[in-house]
Amino acid sequence: MVLDLQFIIFGSIIILSLVPLYIYREKVFKKFYKSNNDIKFFLENIAIYLSATYPKIPFRNNNFKKYTKENNMRTQEILIIEELVKQYVNYEYELKTQKSIPKEKLWSSYEKNSKLLKDNKLPIDWQQRKETACLRDNNKCNRCGTKIKSSNANILLAKQMKNGGGFNLENIVVLCPDCTKILKSSNLEKTSRDLNILDNLMKKVSN
Ligand SMILES: [Zn+2]
Repeated sequence: MVLDLQFIIFGSIIILSLVPLYIYREKVFKKFYKSNNDIKFFLENIAIYLSATYPKIPFRNNNFKKYTKENNMRTQEILIIEELVKQYVNYEYELKTQKSIPKEKLWSSYEKNSKLLKDNKLPIDWQQRKETACLRDNNKCNRCGTKIKSSNANILLAKQMKNGGGFNLENIVVLCPDCTKILKSSNLEKTSRDLNILDNLMKKVSN
């Protein structure tokens, strides 16, 4: 009888001392599980946005596990975004000759104005060329595939003027402002802080 009572008392003490541990473990587990779930949701959301907005860039997310060491969710998200912008900036791309437009869709002065002018000025029908090239490319950036209005589009020549490249549509490459900055940049790290993609992704970071 005495032994039984001792057994019950000791048993109860042991169980009671384990309760706080159990509660603490539950809390820690839940917190960890929640933040893991949130970052998973964030990554899924970002992946959907990137493939819809920049379909030509093959973003990879296999490098993000290292950021889960960060306790702060916002810091994790910002580090992930910086990595994604880096991937966008470092995507290798070469300016190439583009598709031709059927001759019947071109205008009478097209051939004459395609030739390089002596003073390197743009031809009188430049705007028309730009709009035609945008339509040819379905108003999408040639490098990243993002949608652009003809008014926001930039043009780079596949073959530079100094190398004899003309204003024929095959030589006209349609690019978004971000890709133009990247292709013209002499300091990619500096350029990467001044891109629309960075602003767009930062809007998705938790407050
Ligand atoms: Zn682009």
